[in-house]
Amino acid sequence: MSTSVIGYPRIGSLRELKFALEAYFKGEKSEDEIQSLAKELRKEHLTTQKNAGIDFISSNDFSFYDNTLDQAVLLNIVPKRYRELDLSALEKYFAIARGYQGDKGNVKALAMKKWFNTNYHYIVPEFEDDTKIELVGTKPFDEYTEAKQLGIETKPVLVGPFTLLKLIRFTGKKGILDVKADFIRVYSEILKKFISLGTQWVQFDEPYLVHDLTANDIRLFQDLYSAILNKKESTKILLQTYFGDVRDIYTVLQSLNFDGIGLDFVEGRKTLDLVKEHGFSPVKKLFAGVVNGKNIWKNNYEKTLSILNTLKEKDIQTVVSTSCSLLHVPYTVENETKLEEKYKKHFAFAKEKLTELKEIDEIFASANFKNNEKYQQNVALFNEDRHAFNAAVDARVKAVTPEDYVRQPEFAQREKIQKDEFKLPLFPTTTIGSFPQTAEVRANRKAFRTGEISKEQYVDFNKKKIAECIALQEELGLDVLVHGEFERNDMVEYFGQHLEGYLFTEKAWVQSYGTRCVKPPVIWGDISRAHPITVDWSVYAQSKTDKPLKGMLTGPVTILNWSFPREDIPIKQSVLQLALALRDEVLDLEKNGIKIIQIDEAALREKLPLRKSDWYSEYLDFAIPSFRLVHSGVKATTQIHTHMCYSEFTDIIPAIDDMDADVISFEASRSDLLILDSLKKNNFKTEVGPGVYDIHSPRIPSKEEIKVVLEKILKKVAPEKLWVNPDCGLKTRQDKEVKPSLKNLVEAAKELRNEYSRSL
Ligand code: GLN
Ligand code: ZN
Repeated sequence: MSTSVIGYPRIGSLRELKFALEAYFKGEKSEDEIQSLAKELRKEHLTTQKNAGIDFISSNDFSFYDNTLDQAVLLNIVPKRYRELDLSALEKYFAIARGYQGDKGNVKALAMKKWFNTNYHYIVPEFEDDTKIELVGTKPFDEYTEAKQLGIETKPVLVGPFTLLKLIRFTGKKGILDVKADFIRVYSEILKKFISLGTQWVQFDEPYLVHDLTANDIRLFQDLYSAILNKKESTKILLQTYFGDVRDIYTVLQSLNFDGIGLDFVEGRKTLDLVKEHGFSPVKKLFAGVVNGKNIWKNNYEKTLSILNTLKEKDIQTVVSTSCSLLHVPYTVENETKLEEKYKKHFAFAKEKLTELKEIDEIFASANFKNNEKYQQNVALFNEDRHAFNAAVDARVKAVTPEDYVRQPEFAQREKIQKDEFKLPLFPTTTIGSFPQTAEVRANRKAFRTGEISKEQYVDFNKKKIAECIALQEELGLDVLVHGEFERNDMVEYFGQHLEGYLFTEKAWVQSYGTRCVKPPVIWGDISRAHPITVDWSVYAQSKTDKPLKGMLTGPVTILNWSFPREDIPIKQSVLQLALALRDEVLDLEKNGIKIIQIDEAALREKLPLRKSDWYSEYLDFAIPSFRLVHSGVKATTQIHTHMCYSEFTDIIPAIDDMDADVISFEASRSDLLILDSLKKNNFKTEVGPGVYDIHSPRIPSKEEIKVVLEKILKKVAPEKLWVNPDCGLKTRQDKEVKPSLKNLVEAAKELRNEYSRSL
């Protein structure tokens, strides 16, 4: 057998790329400097894989921002407003990704969406009717050649034509079928170029295939690939799928002229059954995704070998592979110096997964693998008692009754009671929670963590920041205030640190979008809350203002989705444990005079199964009730808010309404407010704050611009249900961007309020 890696993390083992790019954005580094760092990183990542003995290594998995954007740019699928900017190619690229505001123009970034069921975000390519599809770049060829010069024959990886077509947003009259022929032409051209370079294998990533597919989808896929594969000559083509199984198109894939097919045996619940039922072509290689590209735990060799054995019994030519790109896991356990060995020995990050691939390959090749020492060690590790059980938590979960999931009185009554209670103006203004995490805010946390300052000094600093933040919000005229979240490094890690059952890493960063990385905490054992977490900060903030102060929590589903979960108990069990811990926090906030509480479910949408048939049974049926369990114990006068990043929940509006929050805010500004139609159609009861500007971009929205957005929203949302807020927390922005943006936001809301009350 041999080994393959679908893609490798590109940000660097210590996030070198992130820091270099951020310096470049600030004008502190030149384009040459970031290009040469990128080259160094690529070299390091390739040689690490080579030295680990990996046979199929990807090139072109590097990106300055996002691979889907790279592919769109390669094909000239770039809207005119960016093409026309008088900027260098790289500056234009970043203008698409991040927006541009300067002396050469003023454009927003393209929309960003979650990459399938991960926390990675891709840039949504936009196709305008006059877009001319052409091969205009050389990135994949350059990176392939660069690797070859290092003596490494790689398989260049490209977002495949089918997935790219499905992800593109067509903004004019044209659609997929109008550009199909162009796609065939340009992908064939790419292939031709690789043939001329002597490339042995090219990998086309087609994760879209793990969705429910229609007959038209299947026909489209067939049309695209039968034409492209016609041109492949001696270069071999690997069709790579991941994030699920390909049940709707399995036999079609077998019939097409691919040389290799990559299947996911980790998330693909039906993958093994498909192989058993339909067999696998004897002239193709099966790239068996058995090493999980999303978890941080060691591979269970016993389970993996049993899969590989089944394949062997069927005489299938097998390559041991990761289940998806290793982009979704941290770089290496070697960077973790503080984690106790008893835990660490269960961990495998990207670099360690390379070793696992190789070991599995070797163990499998040995005549009697049960005698293999590495195999026996691995089996012993999985048989050990992990000491993760907590009897009190278990008893509490078991004691939850159906009534605990239902808040009383029902929404309509509460809405009236709360209008009376708060007497907020029409179109109340608020923010999503965090204010800029400036260098001094981070330095304060770090100094406390490393023991340089006392707890008292740490708290005093944060209190000063809170007081300033409250004063700023009052000055701006916001209606519902927040404390600013200066104590939080991250909305999930922070809660993890205050809950029992969690473990933490130092350097286990995973790329989320662009230069943004997250460091998910690790759920090790049963979860409980030892003491109140946010109460002191919120109470202090409330003491500084007469306006309502919104307490700020992260919800159970998001905490779970942005943690590395346990695999020894069902996910559902961990979510319930989290919900009960947070329920205590909600009730403590209420008891201490906090009347509005926001429970963020930023990541609720993210883990929605890719197949519709699984939405409720595999996810929403426990996710939504868990959220309700957090807040169902509060009084009618306590207002519960929630926030979700991205508005990709058009299809699950009823489930969102069923969370039974009083107010929900969400991203909308980057996606042209498409969700509003759906809110209207579904008679959405929850009050809404569709984000009126994009906080992921440094540009400052004008008052006029915000008013236009609000007027658009008001065509679909009843005025008394509408809140006005940015589309997410402000932590990644700078003060100089936040102040004018919020000032414009408040003024836009006020003007509109006046116009409306005059007309009433
Ligand atoms: N309350 C969080 C904040 O403002 C929400 C962040 C998020 O949705 N990602 O930072
Ligand atoms: Zn958000």
